[in-house]
Amino acid sequence: MIRIAIPNKGRLSEDTRGLFEDAGLDVRSKGDRALTASLGGVFEGLFVRAQDIPEFVADGAADAGVTGLDLVRESGRALEELLDLEFGRCRLVVAAREESGVTSFAGLNGGTRVATAFPNLAREFFTRVARSVEVVPVSGAAEIAPHIGIADVVVDLTSTGSTLRVNGLREIGTVLESTARLVCAPGAVAGPRARDLEDLVTALASVLRARTRRYVMANVPRAALERVKQVLPGLNGPTVVDILNGGHLVAVHAVVATASLHRTIGDLKGLGAEGILVTRIERLVP
Ligand code: AMP
Repeated sequence: MIRIAIPNKGRLSEDTRGLFEDAGLDVRSKGDRALTASLGGVFEGLFVRAQDIPEFVADGAADAGVTGLDLVRESGRALEELLDLEFGRCRLVVAAREESGVTSFAGLNGGTRVATAFPNLAREFFTRVARSVEVVPVSGAAEIAPHIGIADVVVDLTSTGSTLRVNGLREIGTVLESTARLVCAPGAVAGPRARDLEDLVTALASVLRARTRRYVMANVPRAALERVKQVLPGLNGPTVVDILNGGHLVAVHAVVATASLHRTIGDLKGLGAEGILVTRIERLVP
């Protein structure tokens, strides 16, 4: 069995389950509270807190795990990154009270107290920027620390910045940019479970790749094919298919980045395309 540690609740839980389901590794559990559940085949999920996952993977309780890069780095455990899962995007930032007037590290001194649930990353960061501060570890909700007088500055996670704003805090620096990662113990990719880990990475990566792309089909004038190829580069150029009784039209199929879809459709119409179809792709293995 390949045991994969998966966040059981919190911000990363839903996206992780969604990704695994899309990759055909859906949770076959008897109840929501089960600690382990089959994911099909050789894969088994171990449902635990995101925070504990770096330890569990490093100690061998799980062969791989999904958790935030922030938590991996804070743990200080040497883990190998197999894949950036692109969700759970956030930044670990330094923020000071708005009314303190502090807008940069220059305003911090030996007496500055920094509340954070990331004491290791915070200490490392302030050493790097040569500021001696006092780090006050808290287990969460660091943003309230300045209000209750236990710190002047926080090192906390933010994605939209709204929690910081609501709490009257102003960002003065970035410690780390984070997304969810699939990690394993060092050397595991060369160990006895290498083949299964590789299959897992291939499956998850194929879903991530497919999510940002669409499959486009259109009937285009044969005479415009050369220009169509410029509009629809596809993976290896578009597939061109004859249409029975198609007259001057041929069918072209290609994979297109979602971000440029609008332009591609406009360009195709400009070249006389008809019957343009756009479909989602479940998985894409290049
Ligand atoms: P949890 O505490 O279990 O909800 O998981 C928190 C993890 O979700 C963090 O360690 C980050 O990796 C990630 N995350 C993504 N966006 C945010 C955010 N805006 N605030 C806090 N954590 C976030």
